[in-house]
Amino acid sequence: MRHPVNPAVSRTSTPLLIVLMVIITSIMASCSMSIANETLVAKDAAPDKLSKDQSSQGEHSAHSGKIRIVIDAGHGGKDPGAEGASGKNERDYTLDVALRVSSLLQQNNKYEVKLTRSKDVYMELEDRAAFANDWEADLFLSIHGNTYTDSSTSGTETLYSNEQSLLLAGIIQEHVADAMGFRNRGLREEDLKVTTLTHMPAALVEIGFLTNAKEEKFMLSEKGKKLAAQAIVNGINQYVERG
Ligand SMILES: [Zn+2]
Repeated sequence: MRHPVNPAVSRTSTPLLIVLMVIITSIMASCSMSIANETLVAKDAAPDKLSKDQSSQGEHSAHSGKIRIVIDAGHGGKDPGAEGASGKNERDYTLDVALRVSSLLQQNNKYEVKLTRSKDVYMELEDRAAFANDWEADLFLSIHGNTYTDSSTSGTETLYSNEQSLLLAGIIQEHVADAMGFRNRGLREEDLKVTTLTHMPAALVEIGFLTNAKEEKFMLSEKGKKLAAQAIVNGINQYVERG
């Protein structure tokens, strides 16, 4: 059956116009709504942005926007630390690695770095922590080599003292254990002076056992020292990016 064309058009034209008008009106309404929303968002965003800027200025005003890192070479001077399997002292090893870590970190201009000691001198543990606190450091890392009566004991471990240091300790531990290829002994929570008295995230890494002849040999080698220092720096970089 054929439909009459003209009457049909004339019958539907009025509703069509209404539909079109409704569509146009609703488009206009939604446009003005989205404009209104944007205005609202912009108004809301402004104070947010301001408060963020203010808070970051507050945190870093004394730091000129840089992250402050204290690297602590364990022992020193009158305190030789562990005596390695070869008879060498831990204090010299920790200083060597700490100096390497410090110079690697200083290549990155987002960091400000200080060493608790840069030569073979003794510093009280309390003073090491106070040094980092007074400078308002963001991160503290103490470098050590381990010791045990059983010379077969081996591996890397990282010590920490509180919840705020757990992430830092974990990341450092993974990087150092991986790089050195030693047994991963994991993390240990301990009440050490340098990690309890410091107000910022703080960890103490025992790179390996100096009393284990095999580990000591690698730790004291040029390759071993380079790897340890780079692993610590990689860990710090990862921690800073996450935090
Ligand atoms: Zn030590």
